[in-house]
Amino acid sequence: MQNHTYNVLLFYKYVPIEDPETFAAEHLEVCKELGLKGRILVGHEGINGTCSGTIEQTEKYTDMLKADPRFSDIVFKIDETDGHAFKKMHVRFRNEIVNLSLEDDINPNELTGNYLEPEEFYKKMQDENTIVLDARNDYEYDLGHFRGAIRPDIENFRDLPKWVEENREMLEGKEVLTYCTGGIRCEKFSGWLKREGFDNVGQLHGGIVTYGKDPEVQGKLWDGQLYVFDERIAVPVNRVEHVIVGRDHFTGEPCERYVNCANPECNKKILASEENEYKYMRSCSDECREHPRNRYAAENGLTAAEVQARLDALKEEASV
Ligand SMILES: [Zn+2]
Repeated sequence: MQNHTYNVLLFYKYVPIEDPETFAAEHLEVCKELGLKGRILVGHEGINGTCSGTIEQTEKYTDMLKADPRFSDIVFKIDETDGHAFKKMHVRFRNEIVNLSLEDDINPNELTGNYLEPEEFYKKMQDENTIVLDARNDYEYDLGHFRGAIRPDIENFRDLPKWVEENREMLEGKEVLTYCTGGIRCEKFSGWLKREGFDNVGQLHGGIVTYGKDPEVQGKLWDGQLYVFDERIAVPVNRVEHVIVGRDHFTGEPCERYVNCANPECNKKILASEENEYKYMRSCSDECREHPRNRYAAENGLTAAEVQARLDALKEEASV
C-alpha cells in the first residue's frame, strides 16, 4: 500500500510472566497512552497480541517491548494499513494466551513441533508423505487455506485435540505439517501432537502471515484469503495467483465477504454477497430470520409485516 500511515502488529511470546494481572493492568495504561487500539492477552505463560496505530505509535510500542529482556527477541509481524483496525484497546489476563484447555498443559519451550521456515514448508507440503493439517477454525479455513490441507470440523481451537483423536488414522504414518495465522496456536498444538505419539511433526514458523510476506515463496499454494481477527477480516496471502475458495452460504457462488448472522443468539459467520445479505436478511436459516431480536430487521427498521413479506417471498422461491 502506498503512503500508508498505520501499522497492524501481530506478535506473541511464550515466556514466564510473574504477576500477569498487574502486568496486564499496567500494559493497558501504556498502550492507551501511546494511542494504540487492539487486543492483547497476558498470562503466566506469555503474551499474545494484535494492535494497530500510526507508524510512530507502533514503533514506540515495539521498541518498548523489545527493551524488556523477556521480550527482546519477540517477532512482530507488521501489516501496513491506512487506519486503525480495532475500535478499542483491551489488555486482559488469561490462564492461557491461546485457549487449548488441555488437562495437562503444554509448554512450547519444552515440547513443540519442528519449526519450518516458509520455503521448507512450501517444499514439504508437496511431498507425498506429508499431510497438511489446518490448526484453525472451520470459518477461517473456509475463507482460505493451503491447497489440499485438511479442514478440521471445529469452531474453537480447544476442540482440535478431540477432532484429532477421532481422526487419528488420517495422520498415522505421515509427517504432519500444521499451520495457523501467526504461529502461536501451532506452538502448543504441534507439541500436543508429539506427546500424542506423532513423532514427525512440523509447524509453519511465523504462520501464514510470515509465509505470505516471504520473498521466495510469495504465498504460493495458498488459496483464498487469510481470515484475521480485526476489522479487515480478510487479507491477501498469495502474491502469485488468487484462487477464490470461499462460497456464498446461500448460493454457493464464489464469495469472500464474511458477515455475522443477524440472530444475536446465533451470530455465526457466513459468507454472503451484498445482494444475498439483503435477500436473506443476513440470517443463516429461516429460524434465524424469524428470531424476534433479528438485528438485520432492527437495523433496517423493518416492520413485522415487511419481515413476513420477505419470508414469504423466500419460501415461495424455495418451493418452485
Ligand atoms: Zn443464524
